[in-house]
Amino acid sequence: MSTIIIQHDDCLRHDPGPKHVESPQRVKAVLGGLEGLKGLQMLPAPYVTSEQILRVHPNEFWNGITAQEPSTGIVTLDPDTFLSNGSIDAALRASGGLCFAIDQILEDKAMRAFCAVRPPGHHSEPEAVMGFCLLNHVAIGAMHALAHAAVKRVAIIDFDVHHGNGTQAVFENNSNVLFVSSHQLPLYPGTGQVEETGCGNILNLPLAAGDGSKAFRQTWNKLGLPAIHSFEPDLILISAGFDAHQRDPLAQIELQDADYYWITDQICDLATDSCHGRVASILEGGYDLQALATASRAHVHALSC
Ligand SMILES: [Zn+2]
Repeated sequence: MSTIIIQHDDCLRHDPGPKHVESPQRVKAVLGGLEGLKGLQMLPAPYVTSEQILRVHPNEFWNGITAQEPSTGIVTLDPDTFLSNGSIDAALRASGGLCFAIDQILEDKAMRAFCAVRPPGHHSEPEAVMGFCLLNHVAIGAMHALAHAAVKRVAIIDFDVHHGNGTQAVFENNSNVLFVSSHQLPLYPGTGQVEETGCGNILNLPLAAGDGSKAFRQTWNKLGLPAIHSFEPDLILISAGFDAHQRDPLAQIELQDADYYWITDQICDLATDSCHGRVASILEGGYDLQALATASRAHVHALSC
C-alpha cells in the first residue's frame, strides 16, 4: 500500500504577514523535499465538517473566529496568531485533510499518511486560538477516529519542539487517548512539565536547550515508546513539527534529519505490533525552510518504508 500525502493549495492562502515565520513557503518547502520519494500518492484535502470541528471546538468559538476573517489585510487574534483572507479555508483543509487521511487508513486504502498542511494546530485549545494555530487538527483527527467503531484507543505522538498545550487540554480527561510529547523547556508555551499527567494519559518528556540527538533518542526509547506500546493503540497520530531541528531559529534541541527518520521508524515498528501499521502524521511547526524540506523528507521516507 502506498503512503498518501494530503495537501491543498488553500493551505497557501493563510498569510500571517511577510515577517511571520509561519509562511506559505513552509508547505512549498515540505512538498519540494518529498520530490523523488517512491511510493507516494498525492491526494487533495477536503474541508473538515462542522460535526468534526464540534467534537473539539464549541460552535460559538469557531463562528466567532470565522466572522473575523478579513477580505483584505490582517486581523490580529493574539500576539502570534493572525487571520488573512483565506485563513479559514486553510484551517478547514488542514483538519479535513487529517480526517480524510484517517478514513483512508481505516478503510485499508492506505497504511500511512502525511498531511502537508498549515496553519499548525497543536497550541489551539477548545476555546482559544494560540501560537499560530486556529483549529486543533490532531485533536479533531483523534476524535474523528474514535467515532469509528474499530477505534477504541488513539495515541498522539508530538515531537514538535513546543509543547502541544492545546492537544493536552482537549484530552487530559479522556483515557481513550494517550498524548506523549517531547519538547524544549523552558520554552513557549510554558506547559508540558512532567507533573502534568492528565488522568494518567498524558506523558510529557521535557528536554533542555542543547540536549541534542542522544538525549532525544534516550528519552523516547526509555519512556515515550514503551508507554505507547503498553497503551495498545488502534491508531497512532503524529504531530510532526520539525522545529527541534538544528537549523531551526525558534529553539535549541539541535536534532538532525536522521533523528526524524529514527523516531518515525520507531513509531512505525510500534504501529506494526499494535495497530496494523496504521500511522497518520500532520505537519505542525518547523521554521527553517531547508530543514523543513530535509527533515520532512526523512520523516516521510521512514513512514513509507
Ligand atoms: Zn513548534
